Amino acid sequence: MTTTPPAFLPFTRPEIDAATIAEVSRVLASGWITSGPQVQAFEAQLSALFGGRPVRSFSNGTATMEVALRLADIGPGDEVITTPITWVATANVIVAVGATPVFVDVDPRTRNIDLDALEAAITPRTRAVMPVYLAGLPVDMDRLYRIARQHKLRVIEDAAQAIDSRWNDQRIGALGDLVSFSFQANKNITCSEGGCLVMNTPAEAERAERLRLQGVVRSGLDGMDVVEPGGKFNLSDIHATIGLGQLARLGEVTRRRAELAQAYFEAAATHGLEALGIELPPAINTSGAITNWHMFQVLLPAERLAGGRAAVMQLLRDAGIGAGVHYPAVHLFTFYRSMGWREGSLPHAERIGRGILTLPLFPAMSRDDVERVCRSLANACRSLLT
Ligand SMILES: *Cc1c(COP(=O)(O)O)cnc(C)c1O
Repeated sequence: MTTTPPAFLPFTRPEIDAATIAEVSRVLASGWITSGPQVQAFEAQLSALFGGRPVRSFSNGTATMEVALRLADIGPGDEVITTPITWVATANVIVAVGATPVFVDVDPRTRNIDLDALEAAITPRTRAVMPVYLAGLPVDMDRLYRIARQHKLRVIEDAAQAIDSRWNDQRIGALGDLVSFSFQANKNITCSEGGCLVMNTPAEAERAERLRLQGVVRSGLDGMDVVEPGGKFNLSDIHATIGLGQLARLGEVTRRRAELAQAYFEAAATHGLEALGIELPPAINTSGAITNWHMFQVLLPAERLAGGRAAVMQLLRDAGIGAGVHYPAVHLFTFYRSMGWREGSLPHAERIGRGILTLPLFPAMSRDDVERVCRSLANACRSLLT
């Protein structure tokens, strides 16, 4: 008897429904394809999602964070404390505005910035902190903002992965200072590319609008001035239309991801992943932090596996399963080493950077897929353990 092998299972896959595709066609034919009414509608819906706070959209999450830093007037001479376990964009934007990134170690359980280490790294030059909610899991928001208030620091939340995550009963974005989201293709909801910033005041939102389009201020029919130069960071109506279609399904997406995460914990137990030395993510609903399950990430015992993480990824690929690495520790990249960062300085982050592996998780997956991933991962590790 022959069986057809299952189709390749990627670690994530965007899902744009037919109604959204039709709506994008309508916008394309409408005669207005850059920023316009769709962007305004998208921003209004996002603002409602975040408790009525001012929201503006941008061309991507990186641009969003750069504008946030500029809004907070962060620049040369300023230090910004962040985590090395993030997409390198978080550190790059700090460098882009001329400030200095200060990396601190992560909590080995949550894999998020360690708030004790953050507090210990504050100097007279520290102006802001940029926490990242890895895989959608927030940090202790009460403690984060207690520290920020005490030391008069701005908080620029890299919530790129945390749409619909919560701190107690509040959505991330509905509380806090400047909160940046990404709608890149791999995120829980997408514009294909896009981002948005939640702000405190209409004045901040007005300045953000200027910073995203060359700093231009218009008046009357023909008046134009530039009071500070800005970038070219606006979202198009085409992208906003995709975002509106995705936003309508946000609740459903978050629920489905939580179900699949639960299935992962069950299958991990069935296949004895922890007995093989594989660390699972923090369990569902720990303390007040509620994740949106942007990713389900395990930590491999990389140093005990012949060929390390890459060998596990190859065996998974041979079994038709994609896996991702989110992320290698940023401070060990050549550029950041050139700023003085060294191996051994942030041990938890370095161990996580070497061993972390993102398993497939997206709403269209089945429980059988989850079962197959855990079985294949257990087999791969068993065959490589030395
Ligand atoms: C995706 C992501 C970004 C950047 O978003 P883009 O839209 O790709 O520019 C920044 N930080 C984190 C943690 C991300 O996951």
